[in-house]
Amino acid sequence: MLIDTHAHLYLDQFEDDLEAAIDRAREAGVTRILLPAIDVPSVHRALELCERFDGLYAMAALHPTETKEATSSDFDAVAALCDDPHVVAVGESGLDYYRDRSFDDRQQEFLRLHIRLAMDRKLPIVFHNREAFSDLIRIVEEEWGNSKEMDGRRGVFHCFTGTPEEAARIVQAGFVVGIGGIVTFRNAGLAERVRSIPLDRIVLVTDAPWLAPMPYRGKRNEPAYVRFVAERLALEKEVSLEEVAGVTSRTAREVFGIG
Ligand SMILES: [Zn+2]
Repeated sequence: MLIDTHAHLYLDQFEDDLEAAIDRAREAGVTRILLPAIDVPSVHRALELCERFDGLYAMAALHPTETKEATSSDFDAVAALCDDPHVVAVGESGLDYYRDRSFDDRQQEFLRLHIRLAMDRKLPIVFHNREAFSDLIRIVEEEWGNSKEMDGRRGVFHCFTGTPEEAARIVQAGFVVGIGGIVTFRNAGLAERVRSIPLDRIVLVTDAPWLAPMPYRGKRNEPAYVRFVAERLALEKEVSLEEVAGVTSRTAREVFGIG
């Protein structure tokens, strides 16, 4: 059993073959798929899919790149959607400094709002990070405090590509690391760096339709391919695929409170 904790199945890239993609996921052993939000309409689309298919779960948040234009009423809509029983997490929130540095302050402001929402609703939170790790972890630690008690904080730093020191800081802060297709890219160096992360602090992500693992690099990604991520982790950790599947699925179920 595998869990893809991060797939944007509601996007147009799945318009033509969504059912087939979900069937392929089942055949690959992927029993649960979590659908992180980008904006308010994406939460509604994710909730429709949760009604249609078993084993799907939604999240609610404004993606950091959306916060340039987002309003406080958009955030209020996200907060209201967190009451839906299909919504299992706040996500994806975070910081993205890759393309546009003109609204860092707005990104940080919305990040703090999302963290407070997760704390208030006792929900886990999924963080997106691109070239912003030091600000992201600092704000997370500021908002949650540095107390040794984990006080219920749960969540994922998804599509992690950082250093072993950064992974250790995520784990220290009470969160888990989401590993995706980049671990299979020969030139990324991530495979070596994941060896130091305890297996039980890792969950699997695809970030479908993006970041397809080898041997599908450059193609559309889909939840079935999370298996290639699990296989690569098994190789690096020198454990069986079954162990990777079992341990990462147990962690995902704990973090997201799903059965
Ligand atoms: Zn994503």
